[in-house]
Amino acid sequence: MFQRHYAVRDGVLTALDAPLLVIHGGAGVEPGDLTKEEEQAARAALEAALRAGHAKLTAGGSSVDAVAATITVLEDAPQFNAGRGAVFTHDGVNELDTSIMDGANGKAGAAAGLHRVKNPILLARAIMDKSKHVMMVGDGAERFATEQGITLVDPVYFRTEKRWQQLQKALAEEAKAQASNTPLVLPGKAYFGTVGALALDAQGRLAAGTSTGGMTNKRYGRVGDSPIIGAGTWADARCAVSGTGWGEYYIRAAAAHEICARVRLSGYSISRAGEGVINKDIPKAGGDGGAIALDAQGVAAFPFNTGGMYRGWIGADGVPHVAIYKGDALPMPAY
Ligand code: ASP
Repeated sequence: MFQRHYAVRDGVLTALDAPLLVIHGGAGVEPGDLTKEEEQAARAALEAALRAGHAKLTAGGSSVDAVAATITVLEDAPQFNAGRGAVFTHDGVNELDTSIMDGANGKAGAAAGLHRVKNPILLARAIMDKSKHVMMVGDGAERFATEQGITLVDPVYFRTEKRWQQLQKALAEEAKAQASNTPLVLPGKAYFGTVGALALDAQGRLAAGTSTGGMTNKRYGRVGDSPIIGAGTWADARCAVSGTGWGEYYIRAAAAHEICARVRLSGYSISRAGEGVINKDIPKAGGDGGAIALDAQGVAAFPFNTGGMYRGWIGADGVPHVAIYKGDALPMPAY
């Protein structure tokens, strides 16, 4: 049994005893976006994902095991922009990107431009564990998935009506902006629902993973930050990050690595480092979004600058805690 031992410092959850698992289901969800039923379904999926990762951790699994198990559940849930439920490209297809990193040894795996891999995070993990490479794309990545016995599906599996309608709306808005020669303002919903997980296992090892369909209406071959190690995902011995937001800005900022670099080199707390990159640097450059960050002491931070970010955590006691909108406080454990 793991000892339950938490503190809340400056409003930040601090779990002094592992295991701890922290997740996001994407920034860009604004109040009023979801019906009551949709909100309930999203909350239930976040809780199920947290429980799946927690089960790995309490069974002695590694932080990497927990991240992969958690993200698999979120990829299967149609509420999120990853796996089934991914957003559509400009050409009307689903194109998936993912990455995973093991903070204990610096290993990483990533894949981009996938059309048929049911659970992209499992391919990222196989690339990390079973190939000599860090990143594979498109057909080659899917060939490797086949060799590894990873489940491939008909691309129609990823399609949901809600995402299809989001694309139609984005196309109509784009056409309107072009016709009137006004600059197109990208709606927050363009990146609604990327998923990410960070885990701290009983041995104090951190891991991070991210999975996404990218941004609605993205052009052929566009790759965002989610599969880029250092941009959308990072884990080292003392810090792990998964981002969600306007990927081009996260790549330019090397956002996930930048947060952990500030922790390592400047001695910043995880929340100060996360605030600086996500809520200062990225908006200053013109981008937006959020991230989750976790350090090896079990301090978690959830910075975001949109109207909401699906987010949650689960500690040693196995009780999942989730929140969606900006005003929703994440309930802190009593201790
Ligand atoms: N960051 C992702 C991308 O740009 C989108 C997201 O976070 O939802 O591909």
